[in-house]
Amino acid sequence: GGRGVSRGARSHRGLNQTICMSTVTRNANIGKLAAGYLFPEIARRRNEHLEANPDAKIISLGIGDTTEPIPQPIVDGMVESAKGLGTLDGYGKYGGYGAEQGQGPLRDAIAERFYSHVDTSAADIFVSDGSKCDIGRIQMMFGSGHSVSVQDPSYPAYVDTSVIIGNTGLFNDDTSQFDDIQYMACTAGNGFFPDIDSAKKSDIVFFCSPNNPTGAAATREQLTKLVAKCKADGSILIYDAAYAIYIENPDCPKTIYEIPGADEVAIETCSFSKYAGFTGLRLGWTVVPENLTFSDGSKVKTDYNRIMSTCFNGASNVAQAAGMACCSDAGYKSMLDLVAYYKENALILKKCFEELGFEVHGGTDAPYVWVGFPGKNSWDVFAEILSGTSIVTTPGAGFGPAGEGFVRASAFGHRENILEAVDRLKDYFKK
Ligand code: PLP
Repeated sequence: GGRGVSRGARSHRGLNQTICMSTVTRNANIGKLAAGYLFPEIARRRNEHLEANPDAKIISLGIGDTTEPIPQPIVDGMVESAKGLGTLDGYGKYGGYGAEQGQGPLRDAIAERFYSHVDTSAADIFVSDGSKCDIGRIQMMFGSGHSVSVQDPSYPAYVDTSVIIGNTGLFNDDTSQFDDIQYMACTAGNGFFPDIDSAKKSDIVFFCSPNNPTGAAATREQLTKLVAKCKADGSILIYDAAYAIYIENPDCPKTIYEIPGADEVAIETCSFSKYAGFTGLRLGWTVVPENLTFSDGSKVKTDYNRIMSTCFNGASNVAQAAGMACCSDAGYKSMLDLVAYYKENALILKKCFEELGFEVHGGTDAPYVWVGFPGKNSWDVFAEILSGTSIVTTPGAGFGPAGEGFVRASAFGHRENILEAVDRLKDYFKK
């Protein structure tokens, strides 16, 4: 190919074409990332299984993706908004670019619905296209040059975005960890809450409750300890509450701001993805309290606002209408019903694994069940379950080395698939 010949000095020849390379160096931090992101790798293995067994009826308890229809009151909110955008008045009211921080009424509604029992004000709530995107933007705000701690195991985005922004060393094959990042082990032995007293100080601490993947929700006492530790160390806590609505244990706070003083320590990110069951619609929010400061005394909120205004142009009008509906009485009730449905699935899975004699955690305050296979390699267990039952799970090691010996089962399925999965698992493991 003659295309681009003049661009780079070097080229390499494929089968039928010559690709001319650019002269741009690769971001070395991205080069540090180990094998592919967890879920694409699972999808690859699932497809491999399907190619080898074209008749297999795969059931996914793997990626935590919702499956049930969006509740009607929430759909109605979106439809009305979408229709309104086709009218002069409706477009004038909520069309065009919105505020980068989100529509005022939605920020108010989120504050009222989720934070009325704490001091959090609507002015500290930044509506977004989801929590994962916010985690990336939070990293961009902090930039490199910071030490980071994560729970181990944890949602992979905390580590991977820390790698990309340059806050870690290289991946270490001996430890299965990135160097220069603190992995705080959460095991059955410590009740899935890290040993805070022996943890080193770090600038940024990621913490997720209820935790993905272990399903463990932290108690008020545990979070009080965590906030005190961050305060003593001068750290900023990034608290991920994406599954808080699944908590039923009254000892477990639904927001970090239930802990006194957390507004001087913590950013909280949350999402409608798993609340309203619309992962693909993309709507979440992040709370950056007025009282949270950098070491020079400047407000973190000012910088977060700058990042949102620079890299984000506001969540979709229609998605925000869905968010408004979620916060209405009818919408909120429909969310709780949906959450109850998925939690029933979690209970069914939990009972199944318990009956089969496995060590089972989670599933009561979270949509995830964390199943122990002590001494086994979690990718091997994943592969065995896939080949033996055509059920996709998630290998625990994908969430960090302390996840080794576990697989995660997600409760976000249709009931009939969950029941079918239970039959297959009982069939297979009772043999
Ligand atoms: N945080 C945790 C712990 C998650 O498990 C997920 C999604 O699976 C997210 C954040 C991302 O949510 P969102 O869909 O809002 O990007």
